[in-house]
Amino acid sequence: MAKEDCLLCSVIDNKVAARKVYEDKDVLAILHPTPASVGHILVMPKEHLAIFEQLTEFTTGRLFQVTNKLSSVVFEALQMEGTNIIISNGTAAEQKWPHFTINLIPRRSQDGLNFAWSPRQFNEDDMGTAELKLKAEAKKITEEVLEDQAEPPVIDTKVEHLSGTEEDNYQIRQLRRMP
Ligand SMILES: [Zn+2]
Repeated sequence: MAKEDCLLCSVIDNKVAARKVYEDKDVLAILHPTPASVGHILVMPKEHLAIFEQLTEFTTGRLFQVTNKLSSVVFEALQMEGTNIIISNGTAAEQKWPHFTINLIPRRSQDGLNFAWSPRQFNEDDMGTAELKLKAEAKKITEEVLEDQAEPPVIDTKVEHLSGTEEDNYQIRQLRRMP
C-alpha cells in the first residue's frame, strides 16, 4: 500500500485526527482507536514502513526507546501495574494497518484481559528440525549484529601525556634493555 492511502500516515500528517500522546521527529504515539484497555498506545515510526523487517537499526532503536519510556509514563500517569508490549507483524499475524506499530497495553491484575496462549505439544523431530534450521540461518546474522553494536572508536589519550611521564620513562627503560 502506498503512503498516500495509509491511514496512519494520514494521522502523522495531521489529515486524520487522533489522540496523540507523544511525538518527536521520528516517532509518533497515539491512543489506539479501538483499545484493549484505557491508555492502550500505538507507537509508530513517522516513516511509512509496513513491517518489522523494513525498519532500519536506527528506527528500531528509536521506537523501542520511546516504547520503553512510555511504559514508565503509563505506570506513573495511570497508576498501572503492568504493560503488555505486542507487535503483530504481517497479515498472517493479524497486523491491523500496513504501517508498523508497537502496541503498549496498560495492565492491572484482574483486568479481564488475556493475551496468553494455550501451550501445544509438538513432536521432538519437528522441534529438533526447527532448532537446526533456525540455528543455521541465525549464524548469518551474528556478524551483522556485532557490526551494529560496534562501540565508537576510543581516542587514545595515552599519547598526550607520554612525554616526561612515568610511562615515557618506562618505555625508555624498556628500550635500553633491548640488546
Ligand atoms: Zn503509513
